[in-house]
Parts: sequence; C-alpha cells; structure tokens
Amino acid sequence: MRKPIIAGNWKMYKTFDEAVAFIEEVSDKVPAQDKVDAVICSPALYIPTLKAMADDTALAIGAQTMHEAEEGAFTGEISPAQLESVGTDYVVLGHSERREYYNETDEAVNRKVAAALAHNIVPIICCGETLSEREADATNEKVTTQITKALTGFTAEEVKHMVIAYEPIWAIGTGKTATADQANEVCGVIRQVVTELYDEATAQAIRIQYGGSVKPENIDELLAKEHIDGALVGGASLQPASYLALVEAG
Ligand code: 13P
Repeated sequence: MRKPIIAGNWKMYKTFDEAVAFIEEVSDKVPAQDKVDAVICSPALYIPTLKAMADDTALAIGAQTMHEAEEGAFTGEISPAQLESVGTDYVVLGHSERREYYNETDEAVNRKVAAALAHNIVPIICCGETLSEREADATNEKVTTQITKALTGFTAEEVKHMVIAYEPIWAIGTGKTATADQANEVCGVIRQVVTELYDEATAQAIRIQYGGSVKPENIDELLAKEHIDGALVGGASLQPASYLALVEAG
C-alpha cells in the first residue's frame, strides 16, 4: 500500500504572520508520518521559520519552485542547495502556473528533478492538460509526454521516491474538480507510463496525487480510487481547519 501524501500549495498567499499562525495551529495536529505524509509548500522566504516550528512534528515543509543551477548570477532565484541548507523537504516542479507564466519547459523540469534529488529534496512533478487539450482528446498524450520527459535519465530506485501530481489545468482554482473517475483514469495512464519506462514494481511504488479544486468534501471519493495516492491542494490548504480535514482524510 502506498502512503497517502497531502500537500498544500499556498502559491503567493499569506503574509509571514499569517503563515506562522497557520503552522502554530496545525503542526502538532497533523497525523503521524506512518499514516500520511502532510506537507505545506510555502513561499520560500518562510521556509526556515516554518521548518523550525514544525521540527519534532509530522509536518513537512516544501518549496513551490527552484532554479536548476547549483549557484550563479541569477538575480532573484533560489537554488536547490539553498533550499537544502534550510531543511526543505519537498519542491513542486513544473506546476502549470510556472509553465505558463515563467516558461518552465519539460526539459527544465527534468533538470530540476535531478537537482532536487542531488540535494535530498523530494520532487513533486506536476503535469496536466488544458481544457482544449481535454476536449481534443489529447489528455493522455500530454501527460505521457510531460512525464516521459521529466523522468528521462533516472534509475528506477530514484523514481520510486518521487511524487507525481496530475493537475488538469481547467480544474485549478475554478471549483471544477475532475470527477474521481476522470482523475483516476489519468493517474492510471501515468502509472502505465512508469511501468513502460521502468517496471511494475516502480509503477506500484511511485505516489501520484490529484490536484485541482480538492476540498474536504471531495477528497474521500478521490482517495478511494486505485491510482490516486494523495492531493496537491491550493485554495483549501489556506485555512487550518480545511487543511487538517484533508490530511485526516489521507
Ligand atoms: P486549487 O486547489 O486551488 O484548485 O489549486 C490546485 C493547485 O494548483 C495546487 O497546486
């Protein structure tokens, strides 16, 4: 059985004081790590403080993006080594908002996955189709390409420790959740891609989250599906009560 992983992606929300108040409220209430992996991906600026607050609790802290280079003249960017140096546990890579607004390509995502692993940060690799791609019946092809490119060059052992998030773009922040069957079907396609690239054991080990308007009211139905191992949650991860309800469902 794969352990569920529930990750909040705060995006560019919350001031420092709001972030601290949230972690104060939830950190010692999240269920034990043998039951569920509970993660908050906060603005990178807050990670050292939130990590220190979550120390000795089951809550892990992640980043929402990072640069691929070790170091260099990249004004405003944050490197994998810098994230590692403040204890970052996870990093979201290839989120559709990064792909759309910051030109994050499949090739860049692939390099960032390598950089994350080199710095002991678990990558959460995002993929997903637009509404027009879904309507053109191109969903499976889109996620197959994204995942195949993201995983290029890694061993089965490395892949087993990664997390993939299937986030249909039309379901993000829109209140339109994919049905549990739609989400499960595409997560199943992703698992099949991993089987073909590696083997059955690797495909059975990797965790695949669904993301897109997940909330306490729909998480049980999603998690009950064979191929859905957790959720990557935007809006509903911003309030302590709904975040805790989500991790408790895990
Ligand atoms: P919402 O849960 O707000 O739809 O956001 C999903 C998402 O983009 C998480 O990464």
